[in-house]
Amino acid sequence: MRKKQLSPTHKRDMDIERAFSDLHPPLDAGAAFIEASRCLYCYDAPCINACPTAIDIPTFIHQIRTDNLDGSARTILDANIMGGTCARACPTEILCEGACVLNKGDEKPIRIGALQRRSVDHLMDKVAKNGTHPFQRAPQSGRRLAVIGAGPAGLSFAHRAAMLGHDVTVYEARPKPGGLNEYGLAAYKMVDDFAQKEIDFLLGIGGISIKYGKKLGEDFSLSDLKKQYDGVFIGIGLGGSGTLGIPGEDLDGVEPALSFIEHLRQAKQKSHVKCGRHVVVIGGGNTAIDAAIQSKKLGAETVTLVYRRGDDSMSATAWERDLARLNDVQIRTWARPSSIGGDQKADHIMFERTKIIDGRLQGTGETYRLTADLILKLLARKCCLWGLVIFRSKMAGSWLMTNIKHRCPAFMQAAIVSNQVMI
Ligand code: SF4
Repeated sequence: MRKKQLSPTHKRDMDIERAFSDLHPPLDAGAAFIEASRCLYCYDAPCINACPTAIDIPTFIHQIRTDNLDGSARTILDANIMGGTCARACPTEILCEGACVLNKGDEKPIRIGALQRRSVDHLMDKVAKNGTHPFQRAPQSGRRLAVIGAGPAGLSFAHRAAMLGHDVTVYEARPKPGGLNEYGLAAYKMVDDFAQKEIDFLLGIGGISIKYGKKLGEDFSLSDLKKQYDGVFIGIGLGGSGTLGIPGEDLDGVEPALSFIEHLRQAKQKSHVKCGRHVVVIGGGNTAIDAAIQSKKLGAETVTLVYRRGDDSMSATAWERDLARLNDVQIRTWARPSSIGGDQKADHIMFERTKIIDGRLQGTGETYRLTADLILKLLARKCCLWGLVIFRSKMAGSWLMTNIKHRCPAFMQAAIVSNQVMI
């Protein structure tokens, strides 16, 4: 029988889908047991201190070793209900795994992220089959809380509040929940619609309702909510990308890297997402790296990431930078964009070399040109990564406001704040 030939387009589509498969395939039972058995169960474990949500890492690893996966997942989710996304997207190499004592010897650190994923996925699969949520709600408190934003911060907070017996209404501007987890993380880190599965799991506790298409300032105001609810949590997350402020920025082919990532995440077929032949990404964080790697996976011939300072100043971790290089992304440092050229559509971008002069980053006047038909910019966000909590404590009869500004993901902050405020 003759083998059916694939058309070049079909083959290309399949290659692209394959390129977006899981970055880290999950550990099976045997591999998880072996990995868990390497943990020293350290007293005063540095991995816990390095975890922004203080998950009791040695305990959950010990529970994996003793074949108590349900208990292990509980240990993780008690501290951070979004431990499944953390296991996939956290920069563990600079957090828990970076702090693991095994780094000091010849051994590799424990693969904490992979073990965490094993436990949480196990419990989520089990709950999806039998429908019983592992956390119970406390008796009704009589309090009603509003949450603005169904992103990781808002939903983590909502889950904790529901668990404590409060009724929660979440106001979300978009048609889907998830925020960063749904729209802003690289597709190869969040395969199989994991963000929505995690939210289904989280909502399984009950007591949380979400109103979609409701935007703060347009469809409701903060004072409306303050009149209707006992407390309001604002989890509006990050704003859009800033502007470069250079000539040619409004040409076709120049877009925020976050929009590009969002299109990819929402696309039914990745190969249908428009990409350039020559892509330039401006920025130095993990999101810039995500955009650059994904451009390459979509088939761009060249992808160059340009950052205005040196390698060491990039907020992308060394591991992410290596991943980019492995994916054939060229990283150029010490240069800033000066203009974009093209006839209606961008076809090149000019950079000026930079250096530190008198303690300040300055242009040297020396320029170079890169061919580019897609320019992805990822600049300082319009609003800082911060969460603002306003919780009315009836017990104390006062408003409690917490302003937190960390560089950890929003859901970690929410978990921390939920613990501080709600308990
Ligand atoms: S630091 Fe490493 S070895 Fe020690 S408890 Fe944490 S994961 Fe285990």
